[in-house]
Amino acid sequence: MISSRSACEVRPAAELAIDRHGAVNRPDLAYTEEVARETAPIYEKVKHIIPAIEWPALAPTIHAINKLKKERNAVILAHNYMTPDIYHGVADVVGDSLQLAIEATRTSADVIVQCGVHFMAETSKILNPSKTVLIPDSRAGCSLAESITAEDVRALRERNPGVPIITYVNTSAAVKAECDICCTSSNAVEVVESLGVDRVFLIPDKYLAANVARKTNVEVLVWDGACEVHERFTAQELRDYRKTDPDVKIIAHPECPPEVVDEADFAGSTKHMIDWVKEKKPAKVMMITECSMADNVASETPGVDYIRPCNLCPHMKRITLSKILDALIEMKEEVTVDPAVAGLARRAVERMINLKS
Ligand code: SF4
Repeated sequence: MISSRSACEVRPAAELAIDRHGAVNRPDLAYTEEVARETAPIYEKVKHIIPAIEWPALAPTIHAINKLKKERNAVILAHNYMTPDIYHGVADVVGDSLQLAIEATRTSADVIVQCGVHFMAETSKILNPSKTVLIPDSRAGCSLAESITAEDVRALRERNPGVPIITYVNTSAAVKAECDICCTSSNAVEVVESLGVDRVFLIPDKYLAANVARKTNVEVLVWDGACEVHERFTAQELRDYRKTDPDVKIIAHPECPPEVVDEADFAGSTKHMIDWVKEKKPAKVMMITECSMADNVASETPGVDYIRPCNLCPHMKRITLSKILDALIEMKEEVTVDPAVAGLARRAVERMINLKS
């Protein structure tokens, strides 16, 4: 066969992925009776947040993605910060970083579409080297992941020989590869205490590290990173909300500064925040975290009134329904990790997962 490309021309990753998984046609996105009927149960879950007038514009894409997922044998893993149309409309698995990492090890799908930020897609690839992992927009970064490099970790180790380095899951694969074990905000205290030492580094979130340090006798050394969403909340802001509405329960994410966590009735990972609301069923609750959390759990917690003083994560919001559809049609953007780096990073992630199980 004669190819129009020269022998040494590098073909785009998406073309190679289509070779492996086959080509599909771009679906018609009309709002037909069939689409209305088949997406009606989904609309029930999001009607508190998406006006009926907007549904005909969203439903055809949701319907098309759900059909394409089957054709491609794909699974969609979506973080709790995705918008409700993604979270309730197309996701197969929803959760925090730890839940998504664990589910990534269990899936039998050929293709994983990661609806979250880039380090999450890398984590899925690390755990599933033989699968095709796609992220609908590879520009979806994270201020925490970008605050530290593999060279920084090597320098920390050189200056602090013998001190284990725990990395929050919000780091690149290259950083994970240099660390001893991973953690998430769900299990950080447990991971710190599992190492049986007096001193550890917990990188890169200085606020998570400070919040963890208050719950353990282990000395926790920090890196100067922060989440641009959670560091914006202030203790005064929370006191003002309480003054305005003394009955409201306030729950905060541990990426918030410690003085903010001190003002909250409860602090925990996104999963723990959801579990807390489901268990306590407060009449009114304020989630001090990313905006979409409250929108997503509202339909699962009837009778709870959500007050929404949230901050948006611009990186998470890069992931949209139309980009998910493009990802499944065009098999883009594929996430790859150097196998040597992936092997070392996998060790750190699996050490954490094995602790959990
Ligand atoms: S919310 Fe914060 S930690 Fe999460 S992806 Fe956005 S910037 Fe990163």
